[in-house]
Amino acid sequence: MRKQEGVIKYQLNHTQQPISSLYSLADINAWRTIAVRLELIGQSPERYQNIGFGNISQRIDPHSAQFIISGTQTGHIEQLSPEHYCLIVKAEPHQNRIQSRGLCNPSSESLTHASVYAQNHAIQAVIHAHSPEIWKHTIALELPHTMADIAYGTVDMAMAVEQLFQSGKLTQTSLFTMLGHEDGVIAFGRNMEEAAWQLIKYLSLAIRIEPQRVNR
Ligand SMILES: [Zn+2]
Repeated sequence: MRKQEGVIKYQLNHTQQPISSLYSLADINAWRTIAVRLELIGQSPERYQNIGFGNISQRIDPHSAQFIISGTQTGHIEQLSPEHYCLIVKAEPHQNRIQSRGLCNPSSESLTHASVYAQNHAIQAVIHAHSPEIWKHTIALELPHTMADIAYGTVDMAMAVEQLFQSGKLTQTSLFTMLGHEDGVIAFGRNMEEAAWQLIKYLSLAIRIEPQRVNR
């Protein structure tokens, strides 16, 4: 599984063209930088064989199915520039197809983001983080999760996400883990701040479960 991390598995129809400067990237970019500083998004020789991990996205407007997402293999850059973002013009999770525009290819997990947006129009922001703490304590924290046999970035994952929403488990909690994707967590919200807050809140709850790491 690890070897395939970061590999795009969907059919991509990408137009190599800058995205419109009318889209404000200030909000998404600031929250992404915070996620990098918290090591929830990034790239490190100690983690996943130095392959970039985590990504972030935001709907372009409340009524659109289109969203902006960070580009693939950008984990090593602390502060992204507009050319590192990509517009998802059309996503068809069931057909495993994505149409995008930008100066880089979209994240390999764009299909999972698309599947989250498709479940509820109120969802305006999605963060896919890698948090060993939250992931490891999925059961203790009673977190909604997709099963261990569902791999990231696949049609199966898109369908598993759909089922998770239909199960009603995501009405109280705006975060779930992906047991088939090491350390994989997805948080979402009505804006970037809300999605980020979910992540930080559960990170705090997960850290509390590990008393051995507390300095007494
Ligand atoms: Zn991931």
